[in-house]
Amino acid sequence: MITLKNPEQIKLMKEAGRITGEALVLAGEAVREGVTTKHLDDIIRHHIEKSGATPSFLGYGGFPGSACISINEEVIHGIPSPDRVLHEGDIVKIDVGAHYRGFHGDSANTFPVGAITEDRQKLIDCAKDGFAAGIAQIKEGGRIGDIGHAVQELCEGRGFSVIRKYVGHGVGRDLHESPDVPNYGTPGRGPRLTVGMTIAVEPMVSAGSWDVKELSNGWTVVTKDRSMTSHYEHTVALTEDGVVILTKVYGSA
Ligand code: MG
Ligand code: MG
Repeated sequence: MITLKNPEQIKLMKEAGRITGEALVLAGEAVREGVTTKHLDDIIRHHIEKSGATPSFLGYGGFPGSACISINEEVIHGIPSPDRVLHEGDIVKIDVGAHYRGFHGDSANTFPVGAITEDRQKLIDCAKDGFAAGIAQIKEGGRIGDIGHAVQELCEGRGFSVIRKYVGHGVGRDLHESPDVPNYGTPGRGPRLTVGMTIAVEPMVSAGSWDVKELSNGWTVVTKDRSMTSHYEHTVALTEDGVVILTKVYGSA
């Protein structure tokens, strides 16, 4: 069931979104060669808790970190570790959620570690541009399939592929709510977009095949062909005044 939010609830979600966005910006600013993914996770946890919120991912299904931090061919659900060190040329995906006064925010971005190849920069840009193309489709009376189609068309048009197995989602009192928001689809298909909907739109893009598998740690998802991947996500609301990006803050890329 899709849970619509009233303006008061969307206001609260904007607070959760702000804390989420701030934590992501702070972690992104700390990305550099030699830093561990655990260090980034500590920055995120500290900011979220200092803000009076709790990290949405910590303990979710038993997840051990406050954020999912995934490097290069890792797509999502990377586990922060003191043993994972960032190297020049890596691309690192940081996915953050904060729970505040009953609601969640969910946001992710991909950061370059030092100087990266042009191909990797194009991959990063593609996830962000795919997001923009997707949310441009969000309007009263539209369909979920309009979003996915726009994301897919943009990414495949640039020679990349979109991950199929993992998708965007409704977000609110629960971190993952209905509906699913795939990064592929057919225009005019899927649930109808309605004022009060709050969804996480999150293109996950591969430089090679979209086929993925989970590593034996039970969490980390990688591309089967070990292609590089990028991820960009914001929690957005469809309001009477149009689309509002709830997790965007000053400094958001
Ligand atoms: Mg996320
Ligand atoms: Mg999400």
